[in-house]
Amino acid sequence: MPTSSLPPLCLSPTATLHDALARLDATAQGILLVTDAQGRLLRTVTDGDLRRAALAGTPASAPLSALPTAHAPHTVSLQASQRDVLALMDAQRIDHVPVVDAAGRAVDLITRRELSQRVYLSSPHLGDDEVALVQEAFTSNWIAPLGPHVDAFERELAAMVGVQHAAATSSGTAALHLGLRLLGVGPGDVVLCSSLTFVASANPIKQLGATPVFIDSEPQSWNLSPQALATALAALQAEGITPKAAVVVNLYGQSAEMDVIAPLLERYGVPMLEDAAESLGATYRGRPSGSFGRLAVFSFNGNKIITTSGGGMLVGNDAALIDHARRLSTQAREPARHYEHVEDGYNYRLSNVLAGIGRGQLRVLEQRVQSRRAVFAQYRDALSSVPGLRWMAEPEGHASTRWLSAFVLEGEHAQTRRDALLDFLERHNVEARPVWKPMHLQPLYAGCRYFAHAQDQDVSRALFEGGVCLPSGSNMSAAQRERVCELVLRGLELRERNAA
Ligand SMILES: *Cc1c(COP(=O)(O)O)cnc(C)c1O
Repeated sequence: MPTSSLPPLCLSPTATLHDALARLDATAQGILLVTDAQGRLLRTVTDGDLRRAALAGTPASAPLSALPTAHAPHTVSLQASQRDVLALMDAQRIDHVPVVDAAGRAVDLITRRELSQRVYLSSPHLGDDEVALVQEAFTSNWIAPLGPHVDAFERELAAMVGVQHAAATSSGTAALHLGLRLLGVGPGDVVLCSSLTFVASANPIKQLGATPVFIDSEPQSWNLSPQALATALAALQAEGITPKAAVVVNLYGQSAEMDVIAPLLERYGVPMLEDAAESLGATYRGRPSGSFGRLAVFSFNGNKIITTSGGGMLVGNDAALIDHARRLSTQAREPARHYEHVEDGYNYRLSNVLAGIGRGQLRVLEQRVQSRRAVFAQYRDALSSVPGLRWMAEPEGHASTRWLSAFVLEGEHAQTRRDALLDFLERHNVEARPVWKPMHLQPLYAGCRYFAHAQDQDVSRALFEGGVCLPSGSNMSAAQRERVCELVLRGLELRERNAA
């Protein structure tokens, strides 16, 4: 059986030298694979092999089997890591390594060129203004914490998100910690939290001495399941428990279903802390994500849609709360000449230099959103024919930033297929990741309560098992995007064929 993901590179031993030359020209990889009727790799043929044969007088009409016998080709197995491949290339001074399956069939080819150009999941993308703004911070001598860029960054972000107030912090995690504390979360409290998220959404709950109760996702949008939330609120109420707060996460650039979630929480008197770390720039029914909670949190970590290399923001419409956040984030110093302290504070403030970068990044946010959406659209179109692949949906009323383009493989052996695809992409130097591992499956949170979308329907678990986040950076080149599309198609095909 010929290999279907490598067909143009494979030739049979009966093909002629002339055929091989033409094929080398057409495929432009500098190498061909000679395979038997079962697709097993017999040898490789390079430009050099053909040139030497011509010099030795071998006619172009001779079959490839007439070439002088070559040493057995250097190959790697499907389990080889990128590092293994590179080590083999270096040791053997070769630029191509065929991958063979357990039966010795050629199933893939890795080139040195790919290994020198990694495609990242989501890398920082600077605009034109950031350097000048940082320069301004230096020349005006405002390099220590606080300063005019911090104030301006807070004002500009608040205006963009449509909230009254904002406090800049050293990270999104710090903002979450402050936000929960300002909502009064402390030892003995119960706090609801989306299960399908990054661990930073939940850790501050635990660190404040409270107990998280995790809530499942909804199958279409992957965000917090209103149905599971209603079940949890009712069950807790029956036990006489009122959660102190709810951390509602807006996943992968898209708001949760706030029209349903906000009134539900309000009915039970539970304030919402919106974790909008991944959704800056998104809207829900025309309103910016991050404007729905009593408080909301953004992150400017290096992998987010805009970045200050590290940073965060706590926002809300309650001036007293945000003022308090600012005070707590600067060691909770009381207004006095000397250092007077009543409250327990933190060193959580964003520096003025980083705020300068943030201001430049805010100016290009809309462009970044459009670029990421374009990346997603290209993936969706290129992979539309793949069966059993379902994208995270963008339901009516939502405008997602597609911070990360994410899909889930459905059907039999989803996790095995997912892992095979991730291995394949990694071998080709493409950084893709599984969807977040839900908090209720983390050893760190073993034993915590969890409310699934429906009885016998653990949505976030299925999304984790079959879910893939593809490289989604706004600075990906057209060639990189095409490379990822082609590799995902090949990677999935390879797996189907091997399973068959
Ligand atoms: C990135 C992220 C955070 C944490 O933000 P940092 O700035 O890295 O501390 C919190 N929640 C979610 C959902 C995130 O993706």
